[in-house]
Amino acid sequence: MGLLSAKIDPSSLAEKEKFHRYERISELFTYLGLFGAFFLSFLPFDFPIERNGLYVLFGVVFVFCFIWFRLIPKKYTGLIKTLIYYCATIFFIFVGVHFTQGIKSFAIFYFYLVVLGAGVSLKIRYYFSIVLLIATMLIAEAIFFENGLPLNQRLILASLHIWALLIVALFAKSVFDEEIRAEAREDSVKLKSAKQIDTVKNEFVFVISNKLKQPILTLQNYLENVLRIKNQQWTPDFLDLLNKTRENSQRLSGLVNDLSDLSRIENQSLRLDIKEVNLNQLIGSTLSDFTMTATEKDIKLIYEPNVETIIVKADSSRMHEILANLIDNAVKYSPTGKTVIVLFKKVGNFAQIEVKDSGYGIPDEAKAHLFEKFYRVNRSSTEPKGTGLGLFVTKELIERQGGKIWFDSQVGKGTTFYFTLPLNQKNERK
Ligand code: ATP
Ligand code: MG
Repeated sequence: MGLLSAKIDPSSLAEKEKFHRYERISELFTYLGLFGAFFLSFLPFDFPIERNGLYVLFGVVFVFCFIWFRLIPKKYTGLIKTLIYYCATIFFIFVGVHFTQGIKSFAIFYFYLVVLGAGVSLKIRYYFSIVLLIATMLIAEAIFFENGLPLNQRLILASLHIWALLIVALFAKSVFDEEIRAEAREDSVKLKSAKQIDTVKNEFVFVISNKLKQPILTLQNYLENVLRIKNQQWTPDFLDLLNKTRENSQRLSGLVNDLSDLSRIENQSLRLDIKEVNLNQLIGSTLSDFTMTATEKDIKLIYEPNVETIIVKADSSRMHEILANLIDNAVKYSPTGKTVIVLFKKVGNFAQIEVKDSGYGIPDEAKAHLFEKFYRVNRSSTEPKGTGLGLFVTKELIERQGGKIWFDSQVGKGTTFYFTLPLNQKNERK
């Protein structure tokens, strides 16, 4: 979203974090419930508990919990694991209920805790399935297991528990849902203000970069004029200095253009002035900006103009930026003495332009990231300077003009960037 936005998927990370949190809480409460019940069973009350059976059950549940929470790798955490956890808990509590006094058992209250816990961590349909499962088990216990009470009383007792469980379930769900809604409200307020900050930041970058454009342009014009005059008394060193200044002012102008486009792209307010553009002329004039830079690196710039005039529908100043970015890269990422070729042709309803170099090439692991914002290949400390914005902006500009960009590259052999732009229909009919 923003100029410096992170490249992670927050939703899945947040989900994982949430499940891990629930797991830790579930583990703690399972142990608490288990040991609490264990110590309660020693109290000198008069209830006929099958204590030995219960102790065996405690042991089994404890081992089960330990394996479940500690030995199963964290990657298996998720909704299915949580559901299995609740179903297994219900099963163990049911066995506990059955071992004690059936439908009259105090262990039934553990079901209430399960319902409260499940309210936090399960989606509504799984949650009510859990409540339904408990209700079914209570009715089964009431119908099939004799515990000294007549059937109708057992059923009344079971219905009372089911009724109370439903109330607890609804109460828990509405409390937790309200909490989630409050969190969402807070998040949306935060998101809104983050978006506003982002818009202001992009606007600021846009205004600053546009304010910088004019003085840079003036500076470039002065330099061009000075270089055109070429005083005979100038030493080669002085001329070199002037050329370097010109080259760097060109680079500065490119960067300022990229920044201004980036802020417009981010704010979704990029306006294009689509007109008929003569490719032959545009490529020729853009290439002439690079003659000096190329000569300095002893790089041969070869332009193969098409014999027929090709007219595309594009924004000519943006086209200039696109080409300048690609030619700048081709020259920048080639060692001295190499060649850069620019050519174009018609392919269907599109003009296809190619910028081909025989430079360093792009490593395979970098290929998928090349068009990302601020991405740079980390070749070595001798890597030419850059911001990693050029290709991101270039791709956006091409796609918004109805074209596509792709490349072929081999390390040590070179890179070719291809891009297309829609042909002017009138031009097509000619
Ligand atoms: P700038 O914003 O000044 O253009 P940059 O050149 O580093 O900075 P991009 O133009 O987006 O940024 O290029 C991203 C990376 O892709 C570069 O760092 C470079 O390593 C690699 N790259 C781009 N074009 C070529 C090329 N023709 N040959 C080899 N590597 C290239
Ligand atoms: Mg670049």
